[in-house]
Amino acid sequence: MLLFSLLLQRSYNDKTVEEKLLLVQKQCSILGNQILVNQFTMDTLQDNVNVEIDQLANVWEGRILVIDSNYQIVKDTYTIDQGSYMVYDEVFRVMRGEKDRNVRMVDNYAEIIIPIANSDKVISGVMIATVSLQDIEDTNAYVATQVRVLHVLFSLLAIIAAYIVSSIGVWGIQKLNGQISGLSEGHLDNIRVKVYFNELEELTESFNVLIDKMRVLEDSRQEFVSNVSHELKTPITSMKVLADSLLMQEDAPSEMYREFMTDMVEEIDRETKIINDLLTLVKTDKKSATLNVEPVNINALLELLLKRIKPLAAKRNIEVVFESFREVIGEVDEVKISLALSNLIENAVKYNNEGGNVHVSLNADHKFFYVKVQDNGVGIPEECQSQIFERFYRVDKARSRETGGTGLGLAITRNAILMHKGAIKLYSEPGEGTTFTVRIPLKYVS
Ligand code: ADP
Repeated sequence: MLLFSLLLQRSYNDKTVEEKLLLVQKQCSILGNQILVNQFTMDTLQDNVNVEIDQLANVWEGRILVIDSNYQIVKDTYTIDQGSYMVYDEVFRVMRGEKDRNVRMVDNYAEIIIPIANSDKVISGVMIATVSLQDIEDTNAYVATQVRVLHVLFSLLAIIAAYIVSSIGVWGIQKLNGQISGLSEGHLDNIRVKVYFNELEELTESFNVLIDKMRVLEDSRQEFVSNVSHELKTPITSMKVLADSLLMQEDAPSEMYREFMTDMVEEIDRETKIINDLLTLVKTDKKSATLNVEPVNINALLELLLKRIKPLAAKRNIEVVFESFREVIGEVDEVKISLALSNLIENAVKYNNEGGNVHVSLNADHKFFYVKVQDNGVGIPEECQSQIFERFYRVDKARSRETGGTGLGLAITRNAILMHKGAIKLYSEPGEGTTFTVRIPLKYVS
């Protein structure tokens, strides 16, 4: 505003001064014409020209000098210099036609020298008019005062507006902060505050997204804990029931003891498996879990895994075929990758039908190796496919339990693959079969 008003004042001042000078110039040239007609004989100047010159000098609160071609002052409205000679540079120049006019500013006065010339531009003298610029100065001073008042008013308004706007902002931040503090106390409720700034609204949104994610995490943590307790409790409950029924019968036959004991051993085995799986999962879950990476012949590794599974598959007449397109050496943690792939192959056998088949293939390009485990078993319904890698998730709990499943196998598989910066995908059609494809980088980059 300050800059703007300074510029405005300056240009207003220049413009009004210029206009005044133009007016003076115009009136002087009219007077000049009349003086020409009288041929500078001021004594014989008609009274009205003399009077006009005096009047104009009065109106301008200044002085008018008329100088003839001999540089003699033929008219001075102050009369003091009348008859004397006026010889100085600027007068010379205007008289010789080197300059159209000459303007000089002295304090609150402007001195303008203009030629007295006929229509053929022949110069016969000059007029020097000194005019007061006090009126323009006064107007400027008045405008400047008004502008100053406006400055103060606008500054006050700006301060008040800034105070109100920042108070609203601070109030919103304080509210937001209050609710965020609630989060650290354990309340995972979404933030609901009315804020009046888009930025704060976006911040609230981001926090709410974060809270939603935290809630999902918290839910899954709680679910995991309750699943673990449940899974660990089931075999123990079975064992207790078996032991109780033996104790209740006073002279139970030894066959019964043997049968119940066999069942109890099975339950203990199951409990051990769950615990082992959980430990493996925890190991692969940890962000800091270390990989023991070394070059491994993946063909040999898969052949070994298939050799181990074949007897189990043969029991149910399931044919297991291995197809390799090339020799693959991958930089992997042999133990973890074996675990991941054997879980997939075991599942392909476990969730297969009598007489079904399992097809395992290995391929590679310059960056990755790909393992495909395909079966024509029971398949996985579409709605379950997204949850299949979750801990303890089983499509058919009864079948899974029958086959000794804990629901942790695929979670372990996925963790192990992710640790290798790989990816796993599944395609499945219920009743048709399932295909898992695994992609793992040939070179491990930590
Ligand atoms: P489980 O120990 O129960 O086998 P997993 O995590 O290995 O646990 O598998 C989770 C569930 O995914 C299984 O219970 C099963 O319902 C389903 N599943 C896994 N692999 C297959 C497959 N090849 N065909 C059909 N269902 C499968």
